[in-house]
Amino acid sequence: MLYKRQTAGFTASCNKPLNLLTFRIQSVLFDIIIQNGIVVDGSGNHWFKADLAVKDGRIAAISRSFTSKADKLIDAEGLIVTPGFIDIHSHSDLCLIFDGDAQSKVRQGVTTEVVGNCGMSAAPLSKEQKAEIKRGASFLLPPGLEVDLAWSRVSEYLKTLERRGVSVNVALLSGHSNLRVWCMGYSDAKPTRSQMQEMKDLLKQAIKEGAFGFSTGLVYPPSGYASIEELVELAKVASKQGSIHTSHIRNEGAAVLDAVKEIIEVSRASGVSAQISHIKSQPPEFWGHVPGILGLIEGARRAGLDITCDIYPYTAGSTYLSAVVAPLWAMEGGVKRLVERLKDSKLKARIKKESLERRYYRREDCDRIFIASSTRFKEYEGRSIGELARSVGEDPIDFMLNLLEEETSIHVVLDFMDENEVKYALKHPLTMVGSDGYALNAEGPLSVGKPHPRSYGTFPRILRRYVREEELIRLEEAVRKMTSYPAQRLGLRDRGKIAVGFWADLAVFNFTHIEDKATYTNPHQYPSGIEYVLVNGVPVVEEGEHTRAKPGRALRHS
Ligand SMILES: [Zn+2]
Repeated sequence: MLYKRQTAGFTASCNKPLNLLTFRIQSVLFDIIIQNGIVVDGSGNHWFKADLAVKDGRIAAISRSFTSKADKLIDAEGLIVTPGFIDIHSHSDLCLIFDGDAQSKVRQGVTTEVVGNCGMSAAPLSKEQKAEIKRGASFLLPPGLEVDLAWSRVSEYLKTLERRGVSVNVALLSGHSNLRVWCMGYSDAKPTRSQMQEMKDLLKQAIKEGAFGFSTGLVYPPSGYASIEELVELAKVASKQGSIHTSHIRNEGAAVLDAVKEIIEVSRASGVSAQISHIKSQPPEFWGHVPGILGLIEGARRAGLDITCDIYPYTAGSTYLSAVVAPLWAMEGGVKRLVERLKDSKLKARIKKESLERRYYRREDCDRIFIASSTRFKEYEGRSIGELARSVGEDPIDFMLNLLEEETSIHVVLDFMDENEVKYALKHPLTMVGSDGYALNAEGPLSVGKPHPRSYGTFPRILRRYVREEELIRLEEAVRKMTSYPAQRLGLRDRGKIAVGFWADLAVFNFTHIEDKATYTNPHQYPSGIEYVLVNGVPVVEEGEHTRAKPGRALRHS
């Protein structure tokens, strides 16, 4: 009896509001209705069938059966409708200024780019760092391209993005290298008390102006010169402001577990929420640590520390050549000093010796290192260091150092990881997906060289290879790792899910046909199967083509 009454009461109390809601929906003119789609809402829950209505940039209604009016109807019969993908690890800071279309990202279904990773960001930017970027010593832009760096502060960078127009939303992390260069140049010294205070004030200001936290890149100068005490000091500032610390950790090879422990310790001592970027264990000599990395993060979480991580779905990484071959001390003072040191035969011999001793790679691994982009040695693009060195009769390490002496802006792709470990990490519930790539364009100046295909293929590759073909993870779980999970990490409260009131950042794709087409030898290729992408309710991809609309916003941490 009791059960019946409760059931009846529940039905009665729900009927009225539902009827009212239906009445209101039918009388409203929406901007867009996406009909008949299979909705994967980003939460990880199972898909459901529904129509979505968009009004004033947000999801205004979700219904299985309303027949309302809209300015535009999108028929998603047989298609999957998901929140737009949030690329938690991107390096598009300057590409988005160069070309706001963000073609290679929006065509994957990406609607939010998180820039400023690995310790380097477009802001805050000192004069000294601007000069260094012009010399090609950054991974903020493919080599050979230039952007007018007309801003210094985070607020100015975000305004520049908005003024120029951008097709995706952008969230910025303040690079630790930027903070350091601003306060103490490319010195490898320990900061004085006043320099430390200046860095903390600068970070506080960056977060106030909209940065979502700070990133460290502990294999790159000058971020890598920091002691753990310096990181803790900065992390306390980030934590106090409710923002995060992301880190390209100090070592991804022999000492990878110690490097993970360092980030955990920074969180323990400061309370900061942290994201360990692109987890991996490399080169082949050091395969096997990925389960250990995830085990450490799980242990930290059990102890109450909010630590998460991300991964890209490839066995190759990419960086600039100097980071591979030059020890940190050799880059003290900036790339000009590096070239001077390389020209000194004694110092060059020491760099070579230490480079090998660091055991980041062995000579035989040089067949797995490929030139991605170069301004002076175009003919080398796509070829391996091992092969090139043999062709001129040089030791591969000497070959790399000689090359670096000629050009400091060379980017390389390193095929150093184990597919089984990539799969292990992808399947693990703690990992989210980030590309570690750029927003490129398959035509024009951004189509140079042979960059890592992840800039074009990361998200469709997850869906094609690891969900559809290999059935490694469920579709709903893959979508969660690309949407609500990164949104939660950033503290975005109204993006990353399909729910009424959330921003209409949406991707609509054909699950049977979705395919990443970019390869290492032919990277500048857009994926197929992504039919529609909406950013803030505005279509930026329609029937697979970019509309050139620029409804993206500079997101600000609050
Ligand atoms: Zn990195």
